[in-house]
Amino acid sequence: MQNPVTTSAAVSADSGRHWADEGAWPVAPGVHRIPLPLPSDGLRAVNVYVLETAEGLTLVDGGWAIDASREVLERSLAAIDRTVADVRSFLVTHAHRDHYTQAVALRAETGARVTLGAAELPSLRAIRAGLEQADPHVAQLRRAGAAELARQWGRLSDGSSADLTVWEDPDSWLAGDLRISVGDRTLDALHTPGHTQGHYVFAETGAGLLFAGDHVLPTITPSIGFEAVVPDQPLGDFLGSLAKVRALPDLALLPAHGPVAASTHARVDELLAHHDHRLTLCLDAFGEGAELTAHDVAAVLPWTRHEHALRDLDVFNAALATMETRAHLELLVARGRLARDEVDGTEVYRNSST
Ligand SMILES: [Zn+2]
Repeated sequence: MQNPVTTSAAVSADSGRHWADEGAWPVAPGVHRIPLPLPSDGLRAVNVYVLETAEGLTLVDGGWAIDASREVLERSLAAIDRTVADVRSFLVTHAHRDHYTQAVALRAETGARVTLGAAELPSLRAIRAGLEQADPHVAQLRRAGAAELARQWGRLSDGSSADLTVWEDPDSWLAGDLRISVGDRTLDALHTPGHTQGHYVFAETGAGLLFAGDHVLPTITPSIGFEAVVPDQPLGDFLGSLAKVRALPDLALLPAHGPVAASTHARVDELLAHHDHRLTLCLDAFGEGAELTAHDVAAVLPWTRHEHALRDLDVFNAALATMETRAHLELLVARGRLARDEVDGTEVYRNSST
């Protein structure tokens, strides 16, 4: 996707290639975007958004609890004459590591309140129960006909000594759609399951802003259902949540990864078109009498905007691609276009008409 044209005052001048550069970038009156580093550079950075109020700061998302992120957060807040002690609350969009863990780590020091969607609870519990080692994606990949990827994926997460204290419960849970006050700002907290089951976006329609977390990203398509407890129909949930955001007024898109963009409507329409196209490609893979696993289908689809073959992706991305294909096939089953049989523990799909 090309850089968004700056047509709205809410689109900061830093938008574009350099969005991950360190700093507290003004987005709108009383709102700054602070990109924080991640341990791997695939996504480059995660944006946290600072909302200034008379009662102190609220941060949308907290970053990944690593030293480098903490240091950049402190320096960036100092640039607007604030410290981490000024942060009174965190609104966390979802329980992925790069959004949630630093909020919990800072709470232990400063007493800031952490708020998270209630449907993230099963995943938090699973992580704390040590299910990270007994990763559900290993079994999912095996069922998807990707035994070798499952083996390599299992090795990827081996030996990760996760600090479980950063996975403690939040102070408050969000359930349903609700209106919340942040100082004198009014935000609509909207449950948007799909990327994860408990994902929330925060719409400040009065200011024309959508704090989108990972639900709507400007330059990449969000992964679907990559969480410790995998739901039945993550893609169906995600498409429903895109429709929910599309029904809002057109807002400036403040994403967790990538530059601020001018139009939530434009980007949601692109994401809906993308998934329509992928669903069509998946169906097209089924010739006369074909019986295919999700891994088989993933192997004939193009991946990333550079249209790479599955075999050219690294293990992590090949596994994500296979699981995303499975989500598309499961939606086609739910829509009656494909049928699924279980053959020796492997899910095999075929045209429902044959
Ligand atoms: Zn995420």
